[in-house]
Parts: sequence; C-alpha cells; structure tokens
Amino acid sequence: MVEMPEGHQGEGFFATSLNKVIGLARKNSIWPLPFATSCCGIEFMATMGSHYDLARFGSERVGFSPRQCDLLMVMGTIAKKMGPVVKQVYLQMAEPRWVIAVGACACSGGIFDSYSVLQGIDQVVPVDVYVPGCPPRPEAIIDGVMRVQDLVGKESLRRRNGQEYKGLLESYGIQ
Ligand code: SF4
Repeated sequence: MVEMPEGHQGEGFFATSLNKVIGLARKNSIWPLPFATSCCGIEFMATMGSHYDLARFGSERVGFSPRQCDLLMVMGTIAKKMGPVVKQVYLQMAEPRWVIAVGACACSGGIFDSYSVLQGIDQVVPVDVYVPGCPPRPEAIIDGVMRVQDLVGKESLRRRNGQEYKGLLESYGIQ
C-alpha cells in the first residue's frame, strides 16, 4: 500500500492538491530504461529478480524503447564514444524524465581514469541520483530508485516549464 499524500479528510471525503495526486501516481509507476554496459548491469539483473523484486515499487515494467520510459538507469562503464548514444537515448525519452547513474563508472568513470572513458555521465546528460559503489549492491540500487521516487513525488507540475530547468537543459546543449 502506498502512503496517502497530505490533505484534508473527514467522514467520507479526502481532498488534496493535483500536484500531490499526480506525484503519487508517477512515483509508483516509474518505468525504467536500463542502459547497462558492464558489471553493474548484472547487479541490476539481481535487483529485478524475485529476491529483491523491483516490481514492489511499481517498476517491473522495464522498457527498451526510450519513448515508453521515464527513468534512464545508466549502469556500467561509458566510453567517450558512447556518450552521444546515452544523450540520444535521453533525448528520445518524453518529459518528465529522470536519470540515475548507477555505480562508480557511471557516476565518475570509476577506476577507469583513462583517455577513452567518460568521467561521469553528467558530462552528457543531467543526473538526478547517483548510486555509489563498484558495484553497488541491489539494496543500493533500490535505495537509488527510492530517492528518485522522492523527487518524482515532490516535483511541481510546473518545474519542467520553469526557467531553471530550461537553463539546466541548455547547459547540456538541449533546447
Ligand atoms: S562501477 Fe565497478 S562494477 Fe560497476 S561497471 Fe564500473 S567496474 Fe564494473
């Protein structure tokens, strides 16, 4: 059972704001798009398995079409050549969309401080939540999804049209 949003209740009625109702629906029906390139992807497979069961969070519907998903999960080492691909996948997702960098490689390049590895996916797309670890355990990945749920649930419906958000996208060359 999900928790009821803040509001006013009495006998036979409950009233709250549209923001909170939409936030409640969105946060409990996140569709992840796994962009897994290496070992951290294996941890994600365990996270989706019956023991950890990401479906408990309304996220069992993993999609491989960016147009159907709202949470990009980048897991693994991203070579500089793949940076534009990550960005293209992000651009193909409809708003509102969120991003988790899972594992040290996606967060900061990890142990691969080399000429060929992107030193963090936040060089090409804005990241909402960073999950540290090499690899992070499934519990840490679930914690990252829960942090995204917090952001989704509290996000104002107007945020995506605001100047601050537009400025953030422009800093990544996204109109
Ligand atoms: S953070 Fe560690 S486990 Fe994850 S992809 Fe990089 S090297 Fe592999």
